[in-house]
Amino acid sequence: MDDHQTLRRDLRLALKRKELFLEYQPIVAGRSIAGYEALLRWRHPVFGLVPPVTFIPIAEADGLMPEIGVLALRQACTDALNWPQHQSIAVNLSPAQFLSADLTDSISQTLDAIGFPAERLILEITESVLLERTINNLDILNILKLLGIRIALDDFGTEYSSLSYLKNFPFDYIKIDKYFISDLIENENSRTIVDFVIGLAHGLGMAVTAEGVETEQQARWLIEKGCDHLQGYFFGRPMGAAAVESFNGIWDKN
Ligand code: C2E
Ligand code: CA
Ligand code: CA
Ligand code: CA
Repeated sequence: MDDHQTLRRDLRLALKRKELFLEYQPIVAGRSIAGYEALLRWRHPVFGLVPPVTFIPIAEADGLMPEIGVLALRQACTDALNWPQHQSIAVNLSPAQFLSADLTDSISQTLDAIGFPAERLILEITESVLLERTINNLDILNILKLLGIRIALDDFGTEYSSLSYLKNFPFDYIKIDKYFISDLIENENSRTIVDFVIGLAHGLGMAVTAEGVETEQQARWLIEKGCDHLQGYFFGRPMGAAAVESFNGIWDKN
């Protein structure tokens, strides 16, 4: 059995053995932490930490993603209940989750069960999520918005980037992929694109998050251009739930 097949087999067990957990990465607005993005981790008993880019596609293909997604949402909201009320929690939605028939019911039941305000939840979706089903994607997003949940368009610029998505869907945030942020300072094309996307988003009444901000120079440039939210190793790496509370404590003192 090759590694891939081993991982496939073990992923089912991982759910039972509770080997999956979340880390949280801060998202910064001005001098405060606007919230955190929840990122899935798998601590495999033999292979150690398996990255989400490896196991999430397996979970998608094997039909495990709706179940993992519900667990992740529940855990993220439970942890975020302990944080300051102004902080949001961003949770990634996979295509399979988005396609599951009971998505909106399942999300609102989870929120109700935990007593977590929908206004503090941001769901991150990629354009490929919207490609899968064209008929009632807009209905689903509108129901989520009616519940009070905000929607972020993730990885903007790396997929199809059809502007029709921006015209037709009610996003609250556009997340510019780190592909454009990592070489901002050296690459004029990246700067032109990022500057344009910030203006475009603001013109449409959407806020912008830059991801993959690793240096102070990148952060300064983005702030000067009016980028609303910044996320990346420069501010903080993904961390365990326990570390979030001390991280918040340090920032509060600033
Ligand atoms: P993403 O949603 O675009 O998440 C951002 C990725 O960039 C994360 O990788 C994060 O750790 C990484 N990152 C953040 N700041 C920096 C930086 O300054 N420099 C660099 N080089 N990287 C940075 P991660 O945690 O490995 O996650 C990879 C992808 O896996 C995510 O991309 C997302 O597509 C998927 N993923 C992670 N957790 C979940 C989840 O709970 N559900 C779903 N459906 N997908 C998830
Ligand atoms: Ca994301
Ligand atoms: Ca992203
Ligand atoms: Ca990504």
